[in-house]
Amino acid sequence: MAESSTVISNTNALNKFTSLDQKGCIMAEYIWIDALSNIRGKTKTLFKEPSGPEDLPEWNFDGSSTGQAPGDNSDVYLRPVAIFPDPIRKSPNIIVVCETWNPDGTPNKYNYRHECNRIMEANKDQKPWFGLEQEYTLFDTNGWPYGWPKGGFPGPQGPYYCAVGTGNVYCRDIVEAHYKACLYAGIKISGINAEVLPSQWEFQVGPCEGIEMGDHLWAARYLLHRVAEEFGVKISFHPKPIPGDWNGSGLHTNVSTQLMREEGGMKHIEAALEKLSKRHKEHIAVYGSDNELRLTGKHETGSIDSFTYGVANRGASIRIPRECAHKGYGYFEDRRPSSNGDPYQITGIMIETICGGAPSE
Ligand code: ADP
Ligand code: MN
Ligand code: MN
Ligand code: MN
Repeated sequence: MAESSTVISNTNALNKFTSLDQKGCIMAEYIWIDALSNIRGKTKTLFKEPSGPEDLPEWNFDGSSTGQAPGDNSDVYLRPVAIFPDPIRKSPNIIVVCETWNPDGTPNKYNYRHECNRIMEANKDQKPWFGLEQEYTLFDTNGWPYGWPKGGFPGPQGPYYCAVGTGNVYCRDIVEAHYKACLYAGIKISGINAEVLPSQWEFQVGPCEGIEMGDHLWAARYLLHRVAEEFGVKISFHPKPIPGDWNGSGLHTNVSTQLMREEGGMKHIEAALEKLSKRHKEHIAVYGSDNELRLTGKHETGSIDSFTYGVANRGASIRIPRECAHKGYGYFEDRRPSSNGDPYQITGIMIETICGGAPSE
């Protein structure tokens, strides 16, 4: 895809080695989230296949190099919490999602999974389901969206959303590769579509129950970066990658509890919306950075300053799908979270608000 000068690796040469016998060993890619919501990873050789994350050794890394610890006390520990088959190195190699912990036994400041998991555990009986719609933009290494004329602009928005055909659609090869990679990994990816801005796409993950949502979304984000790396293309999760009359990127968060999914569920959805209306600011605070650039009330968003909801309304904070209103039960869509938001923080505060928080530790 990219000009050959921007791709510094040689995949043909690598292919000679990927099929070599590993002598029963397993390459485990431990991945974690750093201080700036970037993903980091390093590999450990294992000598037998783990039956679950509890079977995997703890590991550590230099937190002073990731903004997660001071230089004079730099060890941060990695605790394995979820395992996915690795589509890049292929089975039996694995990707291991980890939580970050301090040496004194407290969760690291950027370990948002720990609190999220406590909230999910406390509300397990409600069976909370989520579906996240991850929007993102593909960038050339020259800092401009992939396929856009250098320093210039493509034609105005209109033909690109769910597009087919040369000139309308950008980077489909990377998107297809990522989709397959997610399916191989067992990530609950539920679909993809080209978005409104040229070179902007979306993938959906879900429905996932409880803490699984964050684990699957972070694994899918990791694979997106990793796949795009093979093509010499960069992934941007910025909520407003190009200022002006161009759509931003969100992380629409679809939510339901068991009661909402059953006959008469609408009154439980309404009760949730009532609770959400009282905590708009608290939610916005953990719904991603630079979100004020995106939530302007234009480009299919609601304004960042007010909480609104409506049936089939894409200009509101929360949309109740038409089908759900029609049937009287189902789920709702929180359209506020930005593309760079942390799914653990977003799903955590959501359940805390509508179901209740976790008991103190
Ligand atoms: P949109 O119409 O907003 O573009 P999408 O089809 O992109 O919606 O995404 C909808 C998401 O909602 C999917 O990830 C899907 O798995 C999820 N979803 C469907 N039903 C439920 C439910 N009952 N609870 C939570 N999420 C759900
Ligand atoms: Mn969507
Ligand atoms: Mn979308
Ligand atoms: Mn949506």
